[in-house]
Amino acid sequence: VEKVYETKEGRRIVALNKVTTSFKRGEFVAIVGKSGSGKSTLINILGGLDIPDAGDYFLEGNNIIKINEGQWDAIRNEKIGFIFQEYHLIEYLSVYKNVEIALKYQKGLNKKAREAKIRQILDEVGLIDHIHKTPGQLSGGQRQRVAIARALVKDPAIILADEPTGALDYKTSESVIELIKGLSKERLVIVVTHDRGIANNHATRIIELTEGQFTSDL
Ligand code: ADP
Ligand code: MG
Repeated sequence: VEKVYETKEGRRIVALNKVTTSFKRGEFVAIVGKSGSGKSTLINILGGLDIPDAGDYFLEGNNIIKINEGQWDAIRNEKIGFIFQEYHLIEYLSVYKNVEIALKYQKGLNKKAREAKIRQILDEVGLIDHIHKTPGQLSGGQRQRVAIARALVKDPAIILADEPTGALDYKTSESVIELIKGLSKERLVIVVTHDRGIANNHATRIIELTEGQFTSDL
């Protein structure tokens, strides 16, 4: 896969320089590298939030490089959960409603099953006593737990997280990573982090990006 951005001044920035790899279920992959090395570009392409300029993307055997936005919506809805550094919660909705939103397009779930599912995931992330609060009433770690619940409530096969602990202190980061890990067995988890400790202590695989290229994969 290759991705080139062009700045307003017409300068070409090679964000991903012909990288090739594959991921499988059960892996907990840490993507590490300096700021600007292409980590977010990679994770955004994996989640269909950005489109590469060249290459192929095989998802469960199908080349999805040329699919349209509607097809990407369907894939994300069914298979991919995102966790971002800034949480992206809706400030005026309760914790419960923030998680419920992820199930909006889920077919074949009646109201009761939906409610049970939301309560179960909020229990698993330790927020069952906070479901009526709004994000503003929560700590950073709790906010990220809401985002994790939202990403996981659809039961996606793939979790993509871009610096999920970037705004958290060390201790909270550890517990958030432990939580993602615990909830992610049987899934593919790809976490962008510049925290080497998180990568070394928790990942099953560490890929290092340097100026848009993979410089190690261990
Ligand atoms: P990282 O997440 O590792 O910090 P990014 O993937 O965000 O790196 O960025 C990789 C390179 O691509 C950087 O040089 C960045 O400035 C550039 N870049 C990213 N997005 C854009 C964009 N929308 N327009 C122009 N350049 C971009
Ligand atoms: Mg980034």
